[in-house]
Amino acid sequence: MDTGIFGEYVLWVLLTVARVVLIVVILYYVLRGVLNKWKQRKTGHPRQTAVCPHCGWKGKVSIHAGRCPRCNRPLEDRKMDGET
Ligand SMILES: [Zn+2]
Repeated sequence: MDTGIFGEYVLWVLLTVARVVLIVVILYYVLRGVLNKWKQRKTGHPRQTAVCPHCGWKGKVSIHAGRCPRCNRPLEDRKMDGET
């Protein structure tokens, strides 16, 4: 009876299982992140380029955001363009 080989085998199995579990967990989180991004792009908030009339910031913001990320004032130039 050689328990040393058995012990090494158990250790190898445990290491293999741990690696597989780790890979599955990483894949799960990566896939979930990709799916969330894809969902947001498809159904969520459409993004558009906006220019802040107060501080001149220019960039992409959500249509529903309505506020400048730099000075936190409302981006109201879009509405003014539409009305006048
Ligand atoms: Zn601003």
